[in-house]
Amino acid sequence: MAKFRLSFTNRWLRLAFVLAVVALAFAGARLFALGLLYVCLAVWAFKRWREHKRGLAYVLAAALVVGVALYGFAAFEVWSMRAWRARHFGDAVLLAADGTYEGEGTGRRGPVKVAVTVKEQKVADFEVLEHYDTIPIASAAFDELRELLQGRADVDVDAVTGATMTSYGAVNAARDAVWKGVADAPRLSWISKITLWFASLKVQKVTIHSLAVLFIVVLLFDYTIQAALVEGTGQSLNCMDCQTCVGACPVKRVEGKLFPMEMVLRARLGDYDEVARLMEYCVGCAKCAAKCPAGISAPSVAAAVAQYLRKQKREEEAEFFEERV
Ligand code: SF4
Ligand code: SF4
Repeated sequence: MAKFRLSFTNRWLRLAFVLAVVALAFAGARLFALGLLYVCLAVWAFKRWREHKRGLAYVLAAALVVGVALYGFAAFEVWSMRAWRARHFGDAVLLAADGTYEGEGTGRRGPVKVAVTVKEQKVADFEVLEHYDTIPIASAAFDELRELLQGRADVDVDAVTGATMTSYGAVNAARDAVWKGVADAPRLSWISKITLWFASLKVQKVTIHSLAVLFIVVLLFDYTIQAALVEGTGQSLNCMDCQTCVGACPVKRVEGKLFPMEMVLRARLGDYDEVARLMEYCVGCAKCAAKCPAGISAPSVAAAVAQYLRKQKREEEAEFFEERV
């Protein structure tokens, strides 16, 4: 089996890493980020499989299947729990043992956490512990809900006018809380709880802001890593796509693509193994170096490749590229 080297110069692995960070940091984009992360890992595994580096590809494919299966199992548990609650709709407070229970719903801008105290089959108290909605509107709605709920034998009250989403979130959170006091009610297994925490099934609301943040973070992070890769070469990889180098290069086209532009593009994307492969076509005349307005050339790309190979401990290959700098 080919030796595995984990490298952030691999675009798919790098994107997967960034998406994992985004998934941890931004709950609103978590499901979306995890979906993209899966796509990145699947593409990476497929590429390795195609390159006959199959051992790790199989392990990764198995991990992806297990992840999807876990998510499916968690979604099924959520569905069956909701179905059970729907069948016993309206009975939660009557069935619940005395005590204070916490529950969670989704308000207008995010999760709403509440605590409900049940005493002698009635709601004794209702308190909002955490929410992200607009404070004056939400506070007034929560006060009204508290008055409505206290003394009731159920939590099925109407939404407060003017704060519909917020109050729906709080009422759903109250339902969730009270069901926790019912001994016979089905509960999520710990494995589903962990899976749902990762996927944040409860916070599926993907906001436009979180998607914008996701896009900016990936873009910035990706180019920041790229800059770190060329550190020490004294060169920039900010190609302007002017094609002057193509005009100067005696090779001009490789595998149907413009040369050396394809090589520069690959370097910008961090696919240094591909750059190293394409570099075989370069005859080392340095004509591109004299023409490029951005100061990029095959020699400067070779310097970046050599540095990458040195970090990978591929000394012989690094020497080959250093001769071209
Ligand atoms: S000449 Fe330089 S800036 Fe223009 S396409 Fe080639 S590498 Fe990019
Ligand atoms: S150094 Fe390589 S890429 Fe640059 S012009 Fe010569 S053959 Fe083309």
